[in-house]
Amino acid sequence: MTKISLLFRTTLILIAIFFITGVQASVSVDITIDQPQHHYAKITINYEKFTTKAVDFHLPTWRTGRYQIINLANGIREFSATDSQGNILPWKKSDKDTWQVQGTLNKSVQITYQVYANQLGQRTRHIDDSHAFIDASTVVMYTEVVREQKHIVNLNVPANWHSVSGLEPGDNAHQFVAKDYDVLVDSPIETGVNEHHKFNVEGRDYELVIWGKGNYDSAKMVDDLKVLVQQSKYIWQGYPFKRYVFMVHATSGARGATEHLNSTIIQTSRFKFSERKDYLRFISTAAHEFVHTWNVKQYRPKGLVPYDYQKENYSTLLWLSEGSTSYLQNQLLLRGDLMTSKEFLESLAKRITGHIHKPGRQSQSVAEASFDKWLDESGDYGNNHSVNIYSEGFLVSWLLDFSIMEKTALEKSYRDVHNSLYQNYKLPKSFDEKDLLTILKEVTNESYKAWWQENIHGYAQIDFNILLAKAGLTMSYGDKDKVKQVAWAGITTKQVTNGLQITAVEKNSPAWKAGLTLDDIIVAVDALRMVDKDLTTRFKNFKPKDRMSITFFRRDELVTRMIILGETPKNKLKVVPLEDVSDEQKAFFKHWTGLAFPNKESK
Ligand SMILES: [Zn+2]
Repeated sequence: MTKISLLFRTTLILIAIFFITGVQASVSVDITIDQPQHHYAKITINYEKFTTKAVDFHLPTWRTGRYQIINLANGIREFSATDSQGNILPWKKSDKDTWQVQGTLNKSVQITYQVYANQLGQRTRHIDDSHAFIDASTVVMYTEVVREQKHIVNLNVPANWHSVSGLEPGDNAHQFVAKDYDVLVDSPIETGVNEHHKFNVEGRDYELVIWGKGNYDSAKMVDDLKVLVQQSKYIWQGYPFKRYVFMVHATSGARGATEHLNSTIIQTSRFKFSERKDYLRFISTAAHEFVHTWNVKQYRPKGLVPYDYQKENYSTLLWLSEGSTSYLQNQLLLRGDLMTSKEFLESLAKRITGHIHKPGRQSQSVAEASFDKWLDESGDYGNNHSVNIYSEGFLVSWLLDFSIMEKTALEKSYRDVHNSLYQNYKLPKSFDEKDLLTILKEVTNESYKAWWQENIHGYAQIDFNILLAKAGLTMSYGDKDKVKQVAWAGITTKQVTNGLQITAVEKNSPAWKAGLTLDDIIVAVDALRMVDKDLTTRFKNFKPKDRMSITFFRRDELVTRMIILGETPKNKLKVVPLEDVSDEQKAFFKHWTGLAFPNKESK
């Protein structure tokens, strides 16, 4: 054969391959799990020709849905790189999660490495002898040049395992295809021994896959999810997916959930499904994650578009991504009759109580908390000096919703703002605070500049009785004439061997003023040894304004301080209907929740 005809034939073959495979170069990712009991996976990734002398392969330093730097590269060992002839390519690490391979010019490259996957609760990567949960950002390396290429994932897993993902299915039961790396990392894979249900609602496919035994009733879960997924129409026009997967881990030692592109992973204690309060938490979590399918996965703040996987992605709007999601989840639950108005009012009362005992609201705005989410202050200092983008984000969303409803005489609501974000700022676009002010102006015909400054960049001052009254509701501590008060110090404790260790002191509380602080170990009250597990039993002997001497160890030294006790309502806060409710207030409640105004609770 002449050189020319050889060239001609090669070209023809290349053109044929071009049409068969559909142009795009692709990355193939093999994940082999042959020692699941030791939490290992072997990863082999094949890349087509590189055009540079060296290539940086990265593992992300965080995963989507969790705005925190996590140690992910710590579970990588036995890295190696070869070319298509099997020649070993030299490499070195250039930072904690970058492997730099040399000699890659015009070469197809294969990299292999071992991953240790034993982080169940972080919803990153977990492998054991019954399953594997794989969030690819914690397992699959990438390089910037191939980020936009198709990724084909092949799982080599034990014979009785069953694989499920929001990813497109491939040629066999354990193969998945991702349009690009960003889709891959936002579409976790659950493979193992699991229970799998499929259902179709209004032309869209849904799946529920449950790993682990527990006291759940999967038939009820399917029934309720069928209702839940129909409620999004009250917020957004249209769906961003054809198929959606609810993944559930019924397990122990792990709790929480993460949103993904067209799936979610929900972790619940295996025996926390059957009681109503537990089930309500499960279905509320499912609603929260489902809201994220629009809010965050379809539209998200500037600063997070596109994701930078190697460093923090900053935005002052994470409160809208999380707190508004918590707020909107109730819209789905209430409109689908998955939560009663009584349960809703109870949850509001809890949120208000949390806000009252959150001194951090005087130290940080929701915009600051959003920007600093990557630092995530929690515990005693966090409670006293930070706000939470979820809970305070919920409250400012509520404030904004009522403001819009009022200004537009119930023509519009905060839901219209989110539909506008979905219709106009979908990825690859993003939005910033200016865009939100524009939307608010469009929806209400009024400027929200001052409101924004006061409540988003300032420390929101919320008068809950004024807010609740708009919907015919009020706060109640049981007795409308005179609220019964009991003694209050403002500390929380946990039992340790030698006494009660202080876990939090509320800022400006009586205990704070008396100088008590975190980690003091209380051993006596009024010179009598603490023997009870709980301070509350001893507290019953005291009245508000009483003096109480507390003896404690502070770094081994015995100290005694006098607390002048304060007061707190004896009963838990409730949100209840007002005595006289007007038709306007009832209409407001209806527009807000989609439900009829609740009847007065029988005494
Ligand atoms: Zn969330």
